[in-house]
Amino acid sequence: MFENPETTNLESLGEFGLIDHLTKQIELKNPSSIKGVGDDAAVLKTPDSKNTLVSTDLLLEGIHFDLSYFPLKHLGYKAVVVNLSDIYAMNAKPKQITVSIGLSSKFSLEAVEELYGGIELACKHYQVDLVGGDTTSSKQGLIISVTAIGEADENEIVYRNGAKEMDLLCVSGDLGGAYAGYQLLEREKRVYINNPQLQPDLSGNDYILERQLKPEARKDVIDILKALKIQPTAMIDISDGLSSEVIHIAKQSNVGITVYEEKIPIDPTTYNMARELDLDPTLCALSGGEDYELLFTINQSDFEKIKEHPDLTVIGFCTKKEEGINLISKSGIKHELKAQGWKAF
Ligand code: ADP
Ligand code: MG
Repeated sequence: MFENPETTNLESLGEFGLIDHLTKQIELKNPSSIKGVGDDAAVLKTPDSKNTLVSTDLLLEGIHFDLSYFPLKHLGYKAVVVNLSDIYAMNAKPKQITVSIGLSSKFSLEAVEELYGGIELACKHYQVDLVGGDTTSSKQGLIISVTAIGEADENEIVYRNGAKEMDLLCVSGDLGGAYAGYQLLEREKRVYINNPQLQPDLSGNDYILERQLKPEARKDVIDILKALKIQPTAMIDISDGLSSEVIHIAKQSNVGITVYEEKIPIDPTTYNMARELDLDPTLCALSGGEDYELLFTINQSDFEKIKEHPDLTVIGFCTKKEEGINLISKSGIKHELKAQGWKAF
């Protein structure tokens, strides 16, 4: 891809040419985006009644992503989505992002356009404005940093520290899929390295591949909760795995949490791939990470409102701190939950 003679060398554009090329067609969608790309700083307007939320992530090639199977367009999309997910996890709405990139000489203009194609698609899908960033060269590999800026009414913001004893622990969607997809891609990469004649066998696994390569942030869950008039008492997005996020809520809220293994939602595709790869599906959900689902606690009085919802599952409840953070296995055995486990990075 990078040695294709028909691609355009970045040096021929220069830094400003590249920035101009990547950003000239941007149209601002949000009234709060006063000034986007083109000056020394972006200018945003936040109504007095709202608070501003800011979240940043840094992604490094070889540490957070592997370009041998991660298409650049998907990478751009995912880099934005993981940041928006952090804003939604505060029960807030993202409005703007900035994108900073470090590019090594192996990247052509066409490659960077692919990356920006994914970034723009995410901006369109989530109705956020790309209002700035920075562009630099890198000695080795690709670096992407995205900052998301959001807003919310002060009394709607949900922190990690508000869970109370007897609250219910809920999760959106299903878990472990992104990790199963990652493991499948890694397996096929090894097969390919050992025998480049073999075509990767990814058939029937679209769901978990999409969970890894094109995750979505749960904007819809924020809207659902609002429509149901539920204000979660604590919330976090699942980037590192269920265990780690449960522990964050428990520690910051000063409560214990009990999770039931049998309640953890796992898609059949995830389950089957985990089995095929000799992995425990529950462990994929607990320690795999990158699912970008929302984990939140609600008051028991809200149970009736969510119990029939197909996309929301109650998986446990909050206890006194002294009872600790535990998983009750399918056979009824209590295990202390630990944040260890593997990570996708
Ligand atoms: P400065 O030298 O003042 O930091 P730059 O030349 O880096 O300015 O950037 C010029 C404009 O282009 C700024 O508005 C900046 O936010 C924007 N910009 C730079 N790089 C990117 C990028 N990768 N994506 C989006 N906007 C960018
Ligand atoms: Mg700059």
